[in-house]
Amino acid sequence: MSFLVVGSVALDTVRTPFGEAVDVVGGSALYCAASASYFTKVRVVGVVGEDFPLNEIDFLKTRGVDFQGLHVACGDTFRWAGVYGHDFNTRETLETRLNVFAEFNPQLPDVYRDSRDLFLANIDPALQLNVLEQVKRPRLVACDTMNFWIERKRDLLNALLKQIDVLILNDAEVREMAGSADLIKAAKQILDMGPRIVIVKKGEHGAFMVSKESFFALPAFPTEGVRDPTGAGDCFAGGFMGYLAQTEVLNDDAFRRAIVYGSVLASFNIEAFSIRRFRSLTKDEIDGRVRALREVTRF
Ligand code: AMP
Repeated sequence: MSFLVVGSVALDTVRTPFGEAVDVVGGSALYCAASASYFTKVRVVGVVGEDFPLNEIDFLKTRGVDFQGLHVACGDTFRWAGVYGHDFNTRETLETRLNVFAEFNPQLPDVYRDSRDLFLANIDPALQLNVLEQVKRPRLVACDTMNFWIERKRDLLNALLKQIDVLILNDAEVREMAGSADLIKAAKQILDMGPRIVIVKKGEHGAFMVSKESFFALPAFPTEGVRDPTGAGDCFAGGFMGYLAQTEVLNDDAFRRAIVYGSVLASFNIEAFSIRRFRSLTKDEIDGRVRALREVTRF
């Protein structure tokens, strides 16, 4: 099993009703890698600037995350700033500065080219396509994106959708991509654009999955200690893909169980700013929440 993620590695400035964090490590690839590392070894492709505090991600190496594909370029790291109101389901982006990402042309280390499973985390779709082309014969390709790219790089996204298996988006992005306010219908319309599975994340209201044959919905784990929802979507994807990376048969049951693990990993991440929660999180805690979620959804 070999799992590769490409995405942003960032310095984030985040304000929530519970506090503020300035220039902390984040980015879609880091959140995903931290989360997936509980299930499988993870290879990361991305770029940072010389200002990035590499020592802050060292603890992920001890969890089996491989940063050979993380390029350190001249210039500043990608920066994102956002603010959450009392409703954690909506946030306002205050700033997006691509910096070193604007010039990034990922070259995969040779040893990464045989990666079996691939997550193209939220990043410029041109880079997602570039990385996908460099992986020899992936078994499973999942992808995320956001309004920023749907509005600026639609043609590239359409080309990408034809080459992936699973699309993981939040509800607003699904509506925007399909151009339809009816969420279930919008998700099904996206199935016609290429992916065989569409997973729709709805923040504290959980997630659902549609395919041509099946529908599955799961509430979010009822977390009480939310501090910062940033990265929840990427941690969901990391738990989902990490679980599948250690699974040989990719059938509907496996995808359903993967959604449970994705939801549980996301529920831990939001208890602390940045990727801090992963410094202490244990496999036993994860298993405990999977059992609790099973109980919550039993009837
Ligand atoms: P999420 O809360 O799951 O949407 O992920 C938040 C992470 O996405 C933050 O750590 C940001 O650094 C990163 N991010 C925000 N905007 C972008 C963008 N346009 N491209 C890539 N990554 C982004």
